[in-house]
Amino acid sequence: KNEVVTTLISTLNDAQCQAVTTPAQSVLVLAGAGSGKTRVLVHRIAWQIQVRNVSMHSILAVTFTNKAAKEMRGRIEALLQVSARAMWIGTFHGVAHRLLRSHTKQAKLPDTFQVMDSADQLRLIKRLLVTLNLDEDKWPPRQIQWHINAQKDEGIRAKDCIAGYDLYQQNLLKIYQAYEALCERSGLVDFGELLLRAHELLRDNPDVLRFYQQRFNQVHVDEFQDTNAIQYAWLRLLTQGQDNIFVVGDDDQSIYGWRGAKIENIYSFQKHYPDHQVVKLEQNYRSTGMILKAANAVVANNEGRMGKALWTASADGDPIALYAAFNEQDEAYFVVERIRSWFNDGGKYSDVAILYRSNAQSRQFEERLMTAAIPYRVYGGLRFFERAEIKNALAYLRLIANRHDDASFERVINTPTRGIGAKSLEDMRTIARELAISMWSAMMVLLDQGHLSGRANNALLAFAQLIKNLDQLVEGSELYEKVQLVIEKSGLLEFHEKEKADKGDEKVENLKELVNAARLFDFDSNLEGMENLSELDMFLAYATLESGDMQADDFDECVQLMTLHSAKGLEFKLVFLVGLEEGLFPSQQSLDDVGRLQEERRLCYVGITRAMQYLYLSYAESRRLYGRESYPRPSRFLREIPAECIQEVRLRAEVSRPVTAIKPKSASLQTAGQYRLGQRVSHVKFGEGVILQTEGAGDQERVQINFRQVGIKWLMLAYAKLDVL
Ligand code: ATP
Ligand code: MG
Repeated sequence: KNEVVTTLISTLNDAQCQAVTTPAQSVLVLAGAGSGKTRVLVHRIAWQIQVRNVSMHSILAVTFTNKAAKEMRGRIEALLQVSARAMWIGTFHGVAHRLLRSHTKQAKLPDTFQVMDSADQLRLIKRLLVTLNLDEDKWPPRQIQWHINAQKDEGIRAKDCIAGYDLYQQNLLKIYQAYEALCERSGLVDFGELLLRAHELLRDNPDVLRFYQQRFNQVHVDEFQDTNAIQYAWLRLLTQGQDNIFVVGDDDQSIYGWRGAKIENIYSFQKHYPDHQVVKLEQNYRSTGMILKAANAVVANNEGRMGKALWTASADGDPIALYAAFNEQDEAYFVVERIRSWFNDGGKYSDVAILYRSNAQSRQFEERLMTAAIPYRVYGGLRFFERAEIKNALAYLRLIANRHDDASFERVINTPTRGIGAKSLEDMRTIARELAISMWSAMMVLLDQGHLSGRANNALLAFAQLIKNLDQLVEGSELYEKVQLVIEKSGLLEFHEKEKADKGDEKVENLKELVNAARLFDFDSNLEGMENLSELDMFLAYATLESGDMQADDFDECVQLMTLHSAKGLEFKLVFLVGLEEGLFPSQQSLDDVGRLQEERRLCYVGITRAMQYLYLSYAESRRLYGRESYPRPSRFLREIPAECIQEVRLRAEVSRPVTAIKPKSASLQTAGQYRLGQRVSHVKFGEGVILQTEGAGDQERVQINFRQVGIKWLMLAYAKLDVL
């Protein structure tokens, strides 16, 4: 035991050690990236178990992603050499879900309630707009969804809203009300609802609240800066009176403000827990000196920071490499070439990450990586459980478990097609709305009324019979057999088998993989707090909530592609931060909003600080994105990095750059004074060349030069430092 304690402590610096061993009940660890916050959290938990004899059962830890939760559990197990299964470690959503499952009655939810992801939510909203006779053009479903989620994140229910006389507000409220009613009727819970309900559960049920307050010895929160209002309110309830809360965070890494996260929670914490201890960590263990210097310099441009110093004992390391790509293909080409040589030099693929601002950027890299036969994995794209064919199969399973799940009903009623017409569907929706019943019940009513044509009647009857039959058929069989039976008997498998070539094949493969996933599903590790759940319900909840984990282990040896947002908390030896262009990163929407621009800058800070040893930055001089061609300026964040940290990467001579039709603008020819078409110039790295054309003005001015040795290149004048010959 002493040995374990020694390891626990000896692998920490003084400040970290203080945070881990402090007798204070409420603790705020406020520190910059890579300073060991997550490490401190893990060691704190281990310390309590080992030294203070706190039971595993009494530990609650909240992380930002499922991946992080899994990692944390693993690290604690490694430290203590025991199973950490009894601990509650999960995301806010995961923990909330578990609470609700354990207390469905007090939470006023049906036992069979189902969690729906945001794609299901959007479908439901679209359907609702039809029912309410609201035009999608005037009421964009995504905006409605955003609005509803924003309300929930603030803890506001429809009944708490006051619409006033504004017609727009009144309609929004009407939609929110109808949405709530529909979810209630169908036993559906969206992600925001999980949090809101979990909060109400504790707030409105003193017994439940007391039980958990007593159960948890200490509540731990990672990435505290990105908690939203309702999450924080929930934490407060849980720790009321005992103030037993240990949070770690970094105001400079708050990047979910757009989704309701509140940096202010850090200030509120200091007010609400007056006896708290603040610990600041200042040594960064992750990155080289160069990388850290660049990160610090960028974030220093933000205002209103809490202010933290961050230093490292590591060497300066290589300068940060900057590559000006001709276009997005060239950028991908460059990155993949670098990854290839990293691998050839003995590096591992899994130590490499490509980080981008927007998911749409991943395609270029995927294509290049595929061509180069380099294994990769994309986070946050369409994950296994989010694929259409998988969702269809799951929807059948859901409908079998709960006939009143309208989202699933709508999903499968005509998949595969079974001749149920738009008219019948419309009639069912009307009945459902007027009688405030589920679509399934509405179908029964419609059948009873007997006004349907023979064909329509038969089609509906057949569907109702199919679901009932499936229900009986799967009764008593193993979960994977259920999945197998459902995909076969529902006609889904056959439906996809008939689909054209590759597409269908892949879907059939995926469906078979679902059977496999069900077979391998580990009930034990998902059991606690869900004992009252059927295996099927447990699997369905898992598929919705934890879908990201599924593939994580299978692809250990591959390059990681992800958005900057999902890179939070992670680290990689070699990082490519791509698409550093105005309008992309920082994003277009943030350009004229100071607050959002600062959030983009924090995102840049997060990106830079993911790198341990090597960092490559790149931008494209022309980019085709969302089907449009643009000629963006390099990102302002590039200028915020001290010049001495950056080294421009030289193109290899054999890369011949395509010359596209950028028309020289004669008006700008003279702007830089000394540069004219045909002018001979010399560049430090590329040697002698002749100016072919120029473009843009001021900071953005660029010149195309035909270099004798390296061929034709576009250069930013501001960076090029040309000498006139
Ligand atoms: P982020 O803000 O990005 O979430 P963090 O503050 O949570 O970062 P960690 O991920 O906990 O930082 O630690 C960063 C890296 O530094 C990890 O690889 C960790 O193992 C290492 N590290 C932290 N503290 C020490 C220490 N005292 N000695 C050696 N390595 C350490
Ligand atoms: Mg961390």
